[in-house]
Amino acid sequence: MKTQQEYLDLDKQLLWHPYTSMSKPSPHFLVESASGCEITLSDGRILIDGMSSWWSVIHGYNHPAINSAIQHQLAQFSHVMFGGLTHKPAIELAEKLIAITPDDLQRVFLSDSGSVSVEVALKMAIQYWNTQGKPDKQRFVSPKSGYHGDTFAAMSVCDPENGMHNVFNAALTQQFFISPPPTGIHEPVKTAYLDEIKETFQQHHQHIAGFIIEPVVQNAGGMRFYNPQYLNHIRSLCDEFDILLIFDEIATGFGRTGKLFATDHTNICPDIMCVGKALTGGYMTLAATLTNNKVALGISANDGVFMHGPTFMGNPLACSAANASLSLLSEYSIPEKITQLETWMREALAPCTHLEQVKEIRCLGGIGVVELKNAVNLHEIQPKFVELGVWIRPFGKLIYLMPPYVITKDQIQTLGNAIYHVISEEPC
Ligand SMILES: *Cc1c(COP(=O)(O)O)cnc(C)c1O
Repeated sequence: MKTQQEYLDLDKQLLWHPYTSMSKPSPHFLVESASGCEITLSDGRILIDGMSSWWSVIHGYNHPAINSAIQHQLAQFSHVMFGGLTHKPAIELAEKLIAITPDDLQRVFLSDSGSVSVEVALKMAIQYWNTQGKPDKQRFVSPKSGYHGDTFAAMSVCDPENGMHNVFNAALTQQFFISPPPTGIHEPVKTAYLDEIKETFQQHHQHIAGFIIEPVVQNAGGMRFYNPQYLNHIRSLCDEFDILLIFDEIATGFGRTGKLFATDHTNICPDIMCVGKALTGGYMTLAATLTNNKVALGISANDGVFMHGPTFMGNPLACSAANASLSLLSEYSIPEKITQLETWMREALAPCTHLEQVKEIRCLGGIGVVELKNAVNLHEIQPKFVELGVWIRPFGKLIYLMPPYVITKDQIQTLGNAIYHVISEEPC
């Protein structure tokens, strides 16, 4: 039996963690178990979870309904290849996804992770235009401050500056970037912004396959909320210039913004939509790219096939977890549940307004953000949160909450108190 310290030493020596150095490893905490909204560390400490493990564990950890769905599937089979074979968990999942997403989206491609679902979306767009006799349409427009994943094509449409992507510049397709959407969910639409998009489209539409954007909230690129009206206008511009509209709902999907999908804040439908993260309730990696008949049948015209097929496509265990998670989601009223969560977070974060270190507090649905004036030092601040019994992982100037939907008011209050305490010790 290894001691906790031995495990942690090995971890440091052998394992890469997200965005970390192998010579200056950041502190990591050994987890023993997790249940509901609590993560138990091997040293016995219990942390209230404010992160939903990167926004995925919406129903809490170790949920009996999802556990039992996976166990049931495990007893049948864990995996079969999706080429030539199919299975009920995938079929049921496709049926469910099509039922809950905007009407035009009728076809589903299952893949392994959010980044891959973005790759698939971009490939779909390029292949579609190819079959339409427009093979020059191979590039994409994306607003700055966006985040779409870490694989190459996904990276190419991420924010060109604040990503770490400048290292890869020469290896990335050069895309067209426009300003980030002006912030403020209720701020009136600025026509200058739409003009900027129109100009880019006018100048380059012969080369533009699609426009990719995170609807309503730009997440990892800065937790920026913007008026959904922009999306209605963008839809019209895309139609005008023969450009496919791609929504990346990987972070916003499945209720996080207070509607089932962020798209539901608008009255339009994208041509292609990516979902991931919370799809399996945070149990397993799975993502999906949905599209309309226009794109799907366009690609398939003249004996065309879509050129993608991962080994673990449609993994039955992951699909069964997703089916169970979606059933749970359908049992509660998203608007009520998430509005309540938003109210609790507003209350819990309100005291931070008075701190000199704080620039702005903003909440939307299940997202609560405290933006500081200065960036925090993650290595220093992370252990402080753990000391206070909460799991919160800030980035840059942002300390935020994206808790599981099943969190209680008291637990939110504890998270809020910890944030207040930690910020008050930061330099101004
Ligand atoms: C997390 C995220 C991705 C990437 O998903 P992975 O599963 O980490 O590959 C893509 N787009 C958005 C909006 C995300 O939040």
